Amino acid sequence: MQVLSVASECAPLVKTGGLADVVGALPGALAGQGVRMRVLLPGYPAVMGALSDAQRVGWFDDLFGGGARLVQGRAAGLDILAIDAPHLFARPGGPYIDPNGRDWPDNPERFAALSWMGAHVTVHGAGDWHPQVLHGHDWQAGLVTEYMRQMGGHRPTVLTIHNIAFNGSTDPGRVQSLRLDPWRFHTEGYEFWGSISALKAGLMGADALTTVSPSYAEELMTPQFGMGLEGVMQHRRHVLHGILNGIDDSAWNPATDPAIARYDSPEGKVAAKAALQAELGLPQAEGPLYVIVSRMTHQKGLDLVLQILPDILDQGGQLAVLGSGDPGLEHAFRQAGEDPNVSVRIGYDEPFSHRLIAGGDAILVPSRFEPCGLTQMYGLRYGTIPVVALTGGLADTVINASPAALAQAVATGVQFSPVTADALCNALSRLGALYRDRDSWSQLQRNAMAQPVGWSHSARAYADLYRSLTGAE
Ligand code: ADP
Repeated sequence: MQVLSVASECAPLVKTGGLADVVGALPGALAGQGVRMRVLLPGYPAVMGALSDAQRVGWFDDLFGGGARLVQGRAAGLDILAIDAPHLFARPGGPYIDPNGRDWPDNPERFAALSWMGAHVTVHGAGDWHPQVLHGHDWQAGLVTEYMRQMGGHRPTVLTIHNIAFNGSTDPGRVQSLRLDPWRFHTEGYEFWGSISALKAGLMGADALTTVSPSYAEELMTPQFGMGLEGVMQHRRHVLHGILNGIDDSAWNPATDPAIARYDSPEGKVAAKAALQAELGLPQAEGPLYVIVSRMTHQKGLDLVLQILPDILDQGGQLAVLGSGDPGLEHAFRQAGEDPNVSVRIGYDEPFSHRLIAGGDAILVPSRFEPCGLTQMYGLRYGTIPVVALTGGLADTVINASPAALAQAVATGVQFSPVTADALCNALSRLGALYRDRDSWSQLQRNAMAQPVGWSHSARAYADLYRSLTGAE
């Protein structure tokens, strides 16, 4: 089974969030299921620079305003197809933003070009390679089915929703620059409340839709979480599947991670915590050390942590934070970091994220919505107890320490609902009580570390889906 994955990010080459982790992990996870996956990416400098054995497999005189090569090669152990289109992708900054943090004004065209190329490769092949299924991710791959329709060649398509909050909407005046068929500007096509929406087009056009957890699949059909697309999701519910993300368990492996020595003994965890406290200049206090690794946005609920910080400190807790994003939140966390029991680092730092998760006692993920979430699963694997909001993938990956779950020795973390400062504060009191009871705490850590968080189950689910779409056994 040959599958083309179409995405705007892919770890470790280019990453702003969990989408990249998933796109980078899927080819390896699926290899064991008889699926060969190539990943089509925009030719950002980080992608072009990483390619080895690069070979040109296509040339296009006018890909949305300039010439483009399609290049095939290897990078980071993955089979990559890259769109070498300097007028669109040879730019400094992030995949979506300029060096000053502003969205590139032509993002709709840049990712339309990605979708167009995905459709082209699927319909016409790349060199002698012909995928049987196209698997696109998020709005950046949403227009694939519109272009496939123009090319007159249907192939099975899957679209995965990693976060419905980003729907790729743009002004209807761009029909021409996006090279869309004007007559498809209607509710069954790419029209969405008077705008063009790339995600809406994909949600209507793909043969199968997936999202990254079963709970988020249900939530997407409600006004609270559907972000205006709940009607579309209800309409397409018969092709919607919730398939939980896994984590890259070779990158996040406490047995080999230099951030934690002797992971299989409680002493290993104690040493990692002491090392982290020393690194951050935190006193070697006895209370729980809470950690956060996150984008700083309203979605992530970190303002609630700021609200209850006095309670955390009153109860003898400490807090260590790594993240970046919203300037207001960054500023508030920087100020909070002036307390001797709080450490805040604004930025993006992968090795440090390992040391935080290895050394923390508990990881806080108080998201207002969370399609899947990865950091709570890193926490589970490292015996760093997740404290999570009861939503989306957080609800599906953590077993709340209720009296019944504790009695049966299956609890792996603490969940709270609704997503308010009071409920979070209450969750931390419950966690504090467990933490002080050393037997309960080490039982919780053992349960967490034993919970499967890898890809094997979900890889099978994706492979089964591809096979069902192609009629293969
Ligand atoms: P989202 O995709 O919404 O940001 P996820 O939990 O799905 O949330 O994925 C976030 C990913 O990005 C995780 O791999 C997490 O470790 C990583 N991450 C987030 N912020 C940082 C940071 N400041 N430094 C290092 N890694 C980060």
